[in-house]
Amino acid sequence: MEEGEPLITPAELRQYHYCPRVVFYERCTPVYRRETLRMQYGREAHDVEVALEKQRSLQRYGLHQGQREFGVHLHCDSLELSGIADLVVTVGAESYPVEFKDSTREPDLGHRMQLCAYGLLLEATRPTQSPKGFWHSTRTRETYMVEFDAKLRKRTLQAIREINAFIKAERCPDPTPQVAKCFECELKNFCGDVF
Ligand code: SF4
Repeated sequence: MEEGEPLITPAELRQYHYCPRVVFYERCTPVYRRETLRMQYGREAHDVEVALEKQRSLQRYGLHQGQREFGVHLHCDSLELSGIADLVVTVGAESYPVEFKDSTREPDLGHRMQLCAYGLLLEATRPTQSPKGFWHSTRTRETYMVEFDAKLRKRTLQAIREINAFIKAERCPDPTPQVAKCFECELKNFCGDVF
């Protein structure tokens, strides 16, 4: 990564979990991914959710009170990470990132690493602890608590290192081992070794 180049984002950890090549193509090649209808719907649902959240209580997070910040910019050179958290709730000496997702599923490892990355950024840039975060589905209205335990922190930091390594070396990573994902991937034309 050249000096001045953007740091990787928590959202790229989620993409990396889906398939490392998605991050590689977007970072290291001139591939342009047009926004699909599904992506557009997700973005619009996300914006509506953020607007509604401003009128809600913190009950869904099991909290009675807390300070809410929306669209929080976080940046840490030593973590090589930068991003904008949908929401950060601070209660005393602890801060909890919140992500809103247009999904009917429970958060997978990619989602949990994305959320944990915001927790790591909060701890690196503020005098706070971030032991957990919340992931809210805009489809099912379910809210999940994600604990940032030692295992998840280690996996998240490992993923950040791996992504930075292949971006800096401009080395195309291995494809996802889950070939079923490739059949509906808009980047499949670039993965001649998979088909
Ligand atoms: S086609 Fe498969 S290997 Fe290639 S980017 Fe898409 S998901 Fe990854």
